[in-house]
Amino acid sequence: MHILYNTDKLPEAISSNLQGYSWSFSHFFLWRAFRLQLDCGEGAAIRLDDHVFRAEVLAISHGHSDHCRGLIGLLDARAGLKGDNDKPLTILYPKQSFSMEERIREAQSFADRRGMASVAFRALDDGESFGLRNGRVLTAKAVEHQPGQQCLAFRVGRMRRRLKHEYAILDAAEIARLIRQEPRGTWEEEVFECELAYSGDTLRPEPDFFAGAHVLIHEASFVLPDDADPAKGLHADLQSVVTAARDAGVRNLVLFHMSRRYEDDSALDDVRSVIQQSGFGGPVVLIRGSYNLPTD
Ligand SMILES: [Zn+2]
Repeated sequence: MHILYNTDKLPEAISSNLQGYSWSFSHFFLWRAFRLQLDCGEGAAIRLDDHVFRAEVLAISHGHSDHCRGLIGLLDARAGLKGDNDKPLTILYPKQSFSMEERIREAQSFADRRGMASVAFRALDDGESFGLRNGRVLTAKAVEHQPGQQCLAFRVGRMRRRLKHEYAILDAAEIARLIRQEPRGTWEEEVFECELAYSGDTLRPEPDFFAGAHVLIHEASFVLPDDADPAKGLHADLQSVVTAARDAGVRNLVLFHMSRRYEDDSALDDVRSVIQQSGFGGPVVLIRGSYNLPTD
């Protein structure tokens, strides 16, 4: 299910692109436009159903089982369905993580046994990038979550050229003159446009990394900072996430990974008031359990 805040209906960017699941022992999302799957918790194959082939790239944030236990199942479904086991899939994963390595070794040997020659594995380190279709670039950032092992957040976007900020005050005629008379380098700049960002699991939000994101998918295991239980892992709280999203100029916010302690719907009132008090005015979608698009 999903719950909406600050809006009556799902933003188009989300309703046309996102499907997935997040509750308890399993988390994963598919973002259609980029043919990108984020994480692969248990049951990903069965829930994605015939969308199981959609992803060309699967980016895994870290080696905890709730984010990667569905990997073999996903490969198995892709190997078995319709006899076509040769759809390209690149699996990106954190480079410096023993728990991840173990999962990847298992997946690699499964893919080898099934003759899945088009499945590739690529470790990503902090700051490294990978090219997606249509000129999009995915970049990884190391975040704090699993002590001693690397966990990654991801963002996807493209470089865009635009008029330098200081010329924005000019009127149309002045801009036309500038473009005619001055070399491109004096009036144009290249900026990164962040279309999608994904936190993975993380102790704290990273507003610089997801600045200006059209859509931010962020974990919010707890509602308030004081609710956090460090013994159960290093996770983010809703209050810090919405505040960071506001400061970073995020347009649409998707929250996931909510702790089971908030299973009761009465917790949703607290979620609402934290979002209201934060001053984040964009649409917020909280995902608990399945989130599926109408089938097309
Ligand atoms: Zn998790």
